[in-house]
Amino acid sequence: LDYNEILWEVAQTVEPQRGSGKVANYIPALAEVDPMNFGMAVVTRAGDRFTTGRADRPFSLQSVTKVISLTMALESIGESFWKRSGREPSGDPFNSLVQLEHENGIPRNPLINAGALISTDVLVSRYGRDGAVEAILQFAQELADGEPVRIDPRVAASERETGFRNAAVANFMRSFGNLHNPPDDVLHVYFHQCALEMSCQGLARAMLYLANGGVDPITGRRIVSERRARRINAIMLTCGHYDASGDFAFHVGLPGKSGVGGGIVAIAPGQLSVAVWSPGLSPQGNSLVGTMALEKFASLTGLSVF
Ligand code: GLN
Repeated sequence: LDYNEILWEVAQTVEPQRGSGKVANYIPALAEVDPMNFGMAVVTRAGDRFTTGRADRPFSLQSVTKVISLTMALESIGESFWKRSGREPSGDPFNSLVQLEHENGIPRNPLINAGALISTDVLVSRYGRDGAVEAILQFAQELADGEPVRIDPRVAASERETGFRNAAVANFMRSFGNLHNPPDDVLHVYFHQCALEMSCQGLARAMLYLANGGVDPITGRRIVSERRARRINAIMLTCGHYDASGDFAFHVGLPGKSGVGGGIVAIAPGQLSVAVWSPGLSPQGNSLVGTMALEKFASLTGLSVF
């Protein structure tokens, strides 16, 4: 397959839609981003890279980082993680509180905010508050293999100022005993994690271990076991787009994770990882043009887990 050709065609296809959707505006740092931005990058298992648009421009990863913290939490405490989080799609918005009351403070899955706060809590237990921020940044940098990764302190600070709902979720889970550390500490780490920045190129590179059975194919380093890689992909497929996860599976057919910064990373197991960035969001908080681009990409390449 000629991925240069394919990415060119994807970019042509979404061009008329570029700029559509609504940029996240709950914090100024995200609201200021130009909705006309579009970038996409493919990194294959052999290490070949293909890009279109602004694929080297860093953007706020936001919820895409939930895959990184889940990977780290599973490596920390293993299967016992699943006593503290489910693995079913929620059918509710990413920041919803409603299921937590009925389900005794056990989040539906680790890719909504509540579940991601459990991953973060595991990391605070292991590394401490400041240590956890450092450990997440370091792990992301290792995965990105030299591509720039940073935490935008301005984004982290604004997340905190407006994070009343995340604070409610954290406190609520703590009341059920499902958060082991002070909610303030967990939120501090979570907000810094959300503020991680990478480009499409960096993100696709970083997630390559999930396309290669848990081993980074370029460094040869094992990140997770083969079974764990399969399971993380399964959760991304079923839960990676909140209450639009079914729709993403229907249209794209690949495990993927979105964030309100407008990024999406998708995995073609055994083949490649692909990242796309376009800041305008659907009402569910997923990149509108990014999803269209991945749908076109999947149909042109024939890549699908089905
Ligand atoms: N920082 C955002 C939040 O917690 C991330 C959500 C997202 O990307 N969907 O609300």
